[in-house]
Amino acid sequence: MELLGLFPEEIKEWLQSHGIPAFRGDQIFSWLHKHAVERFEQMTNVPGDVILRLQEAFGTPWPLELAARRRSLDGTEKYLFALKDQTTIETVYLPEEERQTVCLSTQVGCAMNCSFCATGQSGYVRNLSAAEIVTQVLWLEHQLRAFGKSITNVVYMGMGEPLANYGAVLRSAHLLNHPQGRNLGARRLTISTCGLVPQIRALANEELQVNLAVSLHAVTDADRSRIMPVNRRFPLQELLQACDYYTQQTNRRISYEYALIGGVNDSLAAAHRLRQLLQGRLCHVNLIPINPVGTERRPSMAKVAQFAKVLEEGRVPVSIRKERGTDIEAACGQLRQTQLQE
Ligand code: SAH
Repeated sequence: MELLGLFPEEIKEWLQSHGIPAFRGDQIFSWLHKHAVERFEQMTNVPGDVILRLQEAFGTPWPLELAARRRSLDGTEKYLFALKDQTTIETVYLPEEERQTVCLSTQVGCAMNCSFCATGQSGYVRNLSAAEIVTQVLWLEHQLRAFGKSITNVVYMGMGEPLANYGAVLRSAHLLNHPQGRNLGARRLTISTCGLVPQIRALANEELQVNLAVSLHAVTDADRSRIMPVNRRFPLQELLQACDYYTQQTNRRISYEYALIGGVNDSLAAAHRLRQLLQGRLCHVNLIPINPVGTERRPSMAKVAQFAKVLEEGRVPVSIRKERGTDIEAACGQLRQTQLQE
């Protein structure tokens, strides 16, 4: 059991079963989640004997520690964290003027095997726990505090397929959203998926309405199955139906991610087909020039702009993702891959 994965009520149960008054649970939860303390001793209104019990039972609050760190010229930072079992995950920090975003990992590795993704190439190891997911945010909060800043947005777009780790991901979102904790609005959380249909439908029925991003990346089943094996299980029509269901239930705009890979999915014909697929849907398209990890080729900016124009002309809202952190291997899974090779 990990303390950071527990809600106040659950902490209270644990305390009571150890003969400690329940009300300490509220204090402990808010020290951990709101104040992002790194050590139990920093909880100044909690008595020493309780702190000792927590140390005996849990060691330290955070189930991860920093293993490597890179800073990009554009301010993006990337961290490699070592978990207790010595596996590693990546977290990315993206500072902007108005907001500070953290990009979280949800699994060690990934089983989805998308052809263009560095994480997929190193295989799947295990799911992260809710504690391991939220600690990525808390670790950064702790750092930012010194500069009077804090995390304003969270995207589940790091290593792993969030919806394949549904329970822990949802729990982590509720923990981040908790009023006694970090209290991040659900609208500030975005979960990205390669297209796991049953879980998209389940998410549509959740009370916590987070943003949904769907990695589309291709417009025909043949093309999509080639670069994203998940498409063989959940082909495009089924995926789009689940997305429509999500919109019906939540009235929320879905973001479609489209990584442009030269000669693979960047033709004008593909742009027209994408426009046709999405026209009339409550959505937004994010075009991402591919960050090559193998033999992929990044299309020219002119080509990307042409692709965007086709969508704009069809009144499909579109933006081109500003590229960040390429000098620090910020593409999903790249830093970890380099470390594993070393
Ligand atoms: N598994 C989830 C979330 C993690 S990946 C998903 O598939 O959505 C986050 C985003 O980065 C996805 O859209 C993914 O397709 C994209 N991505 C992965 N490798 C990339 C690369 N080399 N260049 C650009 N985007 C990449």
